[in-house]
Amino acid sequence: RPQLIIDGLKATVEGKEILKGLSLSINGGEVHAIMGPNGTGKSTLASTLMGHPKYEVTGGSVSLNDEDVLEMATDERARAGLFLAMQYPSEITGVTNADFLRSAINARRGEGNELSLIKFIRQMEAKMKDLEMNPEFMHRYLNEGFSGGEKKRNEILQMMMLEPKIVILDEIDSGLDIDALRIVAEGVNAMRSEDRGFLIITHYQRLLNYIKPDFVHVMMQGRIVKSGGPELAERLENEGYDWIKEELGIVD
Ligand code: ADP
Ligand code: MG
Ligand code: MG
Repeated sequence: RPQLIIDGLKATVEGKEILKGLSLSINGGEVHAIMGPNGTGKSTLASTLMGHPKYEVTGGSVSLNDEDVLEMATDERARAGLFLAMQYPSEITGVTNADFLRSAINARRGEGNELSLIKFIRQMEAKMKDLEMNPEFMHRYLNEGFSGGEKKRNEILQMMMLEPKIVILDEIDSGLDIDALRIVAEGVNAMRSEDRGFLIITHYQRLLNYIKPDFVHVMMQGRIVKSGGPELAERLENEGYDWIKEELGIVD
């Protein structure tokens, strides 16, 4: 079973400290949700975990099954089984969706264990069907001209094909209408297993009606300040964040 342990993580962006000692552990079989106000560092956490070069780690540790994640380059993290569905996926002209996915999968599987082209295409077609994606998206350039919702589905397609150990979804629900949200959530739920842990970043409780979390964490000012179960998400939806600030004596 995978186990990701984040302990006292601190990170800066352009010299400004955004993550201020964040701790969180995720085990296979668990779904954790992080909620928090805008600008609190949720996407920074996601990018830092993946090793995005803009984010400099200044303290703490991250391990995946006792391996030091912070020592790994971004592609090594992906190979180790970390996956991030980005809040704002980037467009890459000249690389088709199929080419991109195939090299990502084969990099993850390793030399000598590559998926044959025919198996790859069959799998991709089947998963695209599950996600109700038009087959033409196979040969479109990665994310180029995709609508917001199409980009999000495409991120979930990548997740389904890569079969990662730890999945981070950064606002996968933003820009999705209710049908697309249901399809995306079904894709995620189908991937839930003891061999996989999830970290779901969202502003809205709505997503958590479709993907039931085991744990809900509130992030504020670069840290997890409160943890609970799904009832915590409902309270946030109804009452906002002020009561937590009061409870903890946080002044903006
Ligand atoms: P959230 O996802 O919780 O809304 P972010 O992690 O996106 O918050 O941002 C946290 C803070 O870090 C914000 O003040 C934001 O402006 C800053 N920040 C994040 N990424 C960058 C970046 N690449 N360059 C400059 N500032 C950044
Ligand atoms: Mg935001
Ligand atoms: Mg964000």
